[in-house]
Amino acid sequence: MIYLDNAATTKPHEDVIKSYTQMNQHYFFNPNSPHGAGIKIAHLIDKARKNIKQYLNLNDKFDVIFTSGATESNNIALQGMAQTKKRFGNTILTTKMEHPSVLETVRALEEQGFNLKYINTTADGKLDLNSLEKLLNDDVILVTCMHVNNIMGQVQPIEEISKMLEAYPKVHFHVDGVQGFGKIPLDINLMDSYSLSAHKFHGLKGSGILVLNQLRSIKPIIFGGGQEYGIRSGTVNAPVNVSLAKAMRFMQENCEQHRKVLYAKGSEIRSFIENYEGIVINSPTDAAPYILNISFPGVKGEVLVNAFSKFDIYLSTTSACSSKKSSHNETLKAMGMSNSRIEGSIRISITYDITEEQIETFKEAFNKVYIEVKELLKNEL
Ligand code: PMP
Repeated sequence: MIYLDNAATTKPHEDVIKSYTQMNQHYFFNPNSPHGAGIKIAHLIDKARKNIKQYLNLNDKFDVIFTSGATESNNIALQGMAQTKKRFGNTILTTKMEHPSVLETVRALEEQGFNLKYINTTADGKLDLNSLEKLLNDDVILVTCMHVNNIMGQVQPIEEISKMLEAYPKVHFHVDGVQGFGKIPLDINLMDSYSLSAHKFHGLKGSGILVLNQLRSIKPIIFGGGQEYGIRSGTVNAPVNVSLAKAMRFMQENCEQHRKVLYAKGSEIRSFIENYEGIVINSPTDAAPYILNISFPGVKGEVLVNAFSKFDIYLSTTSACSSKKSSHNETLKAMGMSNSRIEGSIRISITYDITEEQIETFKEAFNKVYIEVKELLKNEL
């Protein structure tokens, strides 16, 4: 099997599985229990949290909250901050290229009366800094965007946005870091909050974090026993949280090495596909090298995914997490793409352990699928 859908989810690293299994076998206790076993777990969680802060190079003003993943982290940050900052203003700024866990949240906030405005994106899908500058005013309380786009791989200008926001100290800047962590360096201290999902970096599904500045002021959206600084109530999932720290350590320790592999292999795949007439490469040249979006105009993405599946090669249409929703092409639409290019788009997303042999097999299969598709189109004419 050749798995090329790593933007949807990655294979958990063996250290992660080992740690999760050990924790469940020997340290299954509730960290909130007052007895010795509970206290031990609470210590393990504290240690994992401290390690995560270190891996992420966070300064002291930040805290790490364990969540079930970025969808929850984005919801907590955006809903919580909107309510907290309400007395200072009413405007929220984002782009139409965001993941549904951000877009649908800010849209729900709009229904509650917040003024939602979209920052324009450039033709290659980057947040347009001029548009942001024009939209900024004293009523803005929240600006949110992603670091790396999950469908196309664009890397957003986080540093420049953060610089621009320095003139607006009451604005909370939230970044959805899901597709960038461990692969594209980012100084998280430049923002006010940051979301991650462990399963995108070889951790477990149902596991994530929210990194948050201004912890003490955010209004919770989940109420209960007051765990996770009162922001995310519910019995703390120690095995999952400790294993997240293990996944992070693996990514951090190997970041440079992985980056080299991703750039080399990503460019190899891109250059190979570029030679095919009629195929359009949708990901800009400066996109993250591990996400490549291409279109075979005139052929549906689902047909292509099935064609590759027959070769035991697994890639995706635009994005697995939203492909069941009609909004799944919003990112491509925001870039002004034609319907046939959108419908014929597929995403190839690699990870650090892709081998040369796998790439060769992929190339051979690609050629066969290309010929098959050309025949199909000829017969339809
Ligand atoms: N943001 C981005 C950019 C994503 O790619 C995803 C997952 N596809 C999420 C948020 C949500 O992550 P999860 O489904 O793990 O909550």
